[in-house]
Amino acid sequence: MEASPSAGASVGQVPRRLSILGATGSIGLNTLDLVAAEPGRFEIEALTAGRNARELAELAVRFSARVAVVADPGAYAELRDRLAGTGIEAAAGPAAVIAAATCPTDIVVSAIVGFAGLAPSLAALGATPILALANKETLVSAGPMFLAAAQRAGTRVLPVDSEHNAIFQVFEANNADIVSEVIITASGGPFLKTPKSELATVTRDMALRHPKWSMGPKITIDSATLMNKGLELIEAYRLYPISVDQLSVLVHPQSVVHGLVRYKDGSLLAELGVPDMRTPIGYCLAWPERRPTTVKPLDLSAVGTLTFEAPDRDRFPCLPLAEAAMRRGDGAPCVLNAANEVAVEAFLAGRIGFLDIARVVEVTLDKIDAEGGLVEPESLVAATDLDGWARKIASACL
Ligand code: NAD
Ligand code: MG
Repeated sequence: MEASPSAGASVGQVPRRLSILGATGSIGLNTLDLVAAEPGRFEIEALTAGRNARELAELAVRFSARVAVVADPGAYAELRDRLAGTGIEAAAGPAAVIAAATCPTDIVVSAIVGFAGLAPSLAALGATPILALANKETLVSAGPMFLAAAQRAGTRVLPVDSEHNAIFQVFEANNADIVSEVIITASGGPFLKTPKSELATVTRDMALRHPKWSMGPKITIDSATLMNKGLELIEAYRLYPISVDQLSVLVHPQSVVHGLVRYKDGSLLAELGVPDMRTPIGYCLAWPERRPTTVKPLDLSAVGTLTFEAPDRDRFPCLPLAEAAMRRGDGAPCVLNAANEVAVEAFLAGRIGFLDIARVVEVTLDKIDAEGGLVEPESLVAATDLDGWARKIASACL
């Protein structure tokens, strides 16, 4: 990644125009919490949501957004009625979300969950000098195409994901050739100590109880299966100039060290902080400066002990599945992601068990060979086709 803001970035200029794609979610609300803490610093351009018109309208009014867009067309009437007389423009449907992403701004936070975030994130490129990307599925499904488009558009992509944001802070772009390893940490999720024999019967509610992070339901399940760490390995591989063999995962239940970069001179640099997404989001909102946030400072003496261990790939097969897809490349990460989205949705709906998530992903990935192999998607259409193909297969083996 480059070290300087793109041409045209209005760094330091206040107020900064900000759009949030996925404003009603966990990342979106954390972003708005930071906005509220600095009155006058941001001007809200567009806020989007999936289908919760009531919450979106409340946020749009509270933060004086110019535009509010709900992806579900069925939620339009409610949004329009709730915003009547406010002067805030209301719109609905996936095309309107994409149009909102292209409103000229100084920074866009891309926080839609899943593959649905790819098209709006792509659309935002060029309309903003800075894209703070939380939507990791964009990088997993179509990373090379997306990052090439960002470069062409002159948009700087900043990673919001805590591990990647940590690495961003300690990865010396000028010394990339003497980096020997990039390490991302994992809390281990709620089943870190659960015996393999009990994993088949864990419930949705048990899986949704994350010990350290408060997040949306999809990523919380991904954290319980360790698929989140697999997706994050692929995300790191896309973002940083490193080989697959230079990437590793350490389970670190305290979730204090978020990412580490090892240099060949013997130095191991890390970023530490309390597990609170407002730190990496705030870093992106302030970049290339640093600004104070209301996040509780890390008290290392209260934490006392930091522990690290290797992940258990036998109990958590989603991690090796993702690692294999990363090594394979050529569309395999896109297929992995799509199958995982289908499986997680089915698990959350009570249609399949916890261990079925890995089974569905594995069976779907196995179909790649039957297809005679795949190629890395080089356009939105190609990525959407591949995602749709994988979803069909995954749905058939639920
Ligand atoms: P969430 O479920 O809490 O929120 C998702 C947001 O996207 C909501 O505003 C929802 O209304 C919107 N949305 C859902 N489906 C949509 C669709 N089809 N079209 C348009 N909008 C839609 O999710 P989250 O936990 O905030 O995660 C968002 C993204 O950030 C994910 O990609 C996740 O992996 C990533 N991320 C989250 C965290 C975290 O702490 N929550 C940390 C790192 C990365
Ligand atoms: Mg993360």
